Amino acid sequence: MTRKRIALVAHDARKRDLIAWIGAHRGALAGHAFFATGTTGAKVRESHPELDVTPLKSGPLGGDQQIGAMIAEGRIDLLVFFVDPMTAQPHDVDVKALTRLATLYNIPFACNEATADMIVSSPLFAGGYTPRPADFGGYEGRRV
Ligand code: PGA
Repeated sequence: MTRKRIALVAHDARKRDLIAWIGAHRGALAGHAFFATGTTGAKVRESHPELDVTPLKSGPLGGDQQIGAMIAEGRIDLLVFFVDPMTAQPHDVDVKALTRLATLYNIPFACNEATADMIVSSPLFAGGYTPRPADFGGYEGRRV
């Protein structure tokens, strides 16, 4: 098994669903390294003490940005972010920035349970899949 570095974030209304999702996939998730926004991380640790979870700052206090920075540095292999689309978030701009970086750096990104199910059930998850690195040559070589 290739040890993956998995970022976990759940908005308050989705935290319970994330915990249940981890429980449902505990076999596939065992042995990987987890990095989570503060409150999400605390909840995951409480219910799944067997997992190696590094809690960061709470999302609204900068945790989403910390995960974004880790993505930019190539330190996250998968982002599982259970989003609550029905509640305005005080840190909406941070959420947007995080999802933008996940897209930009071409890392697998699940924003809901069904996508997360598909990702962990994929043979690519169990195998040593490496996404094609994002190519910024055009951007970096542009004339300004
Ligand atoms: P939290 O942050 O895990 O600290 O609640 C999640 C979020 O970004 O809303």
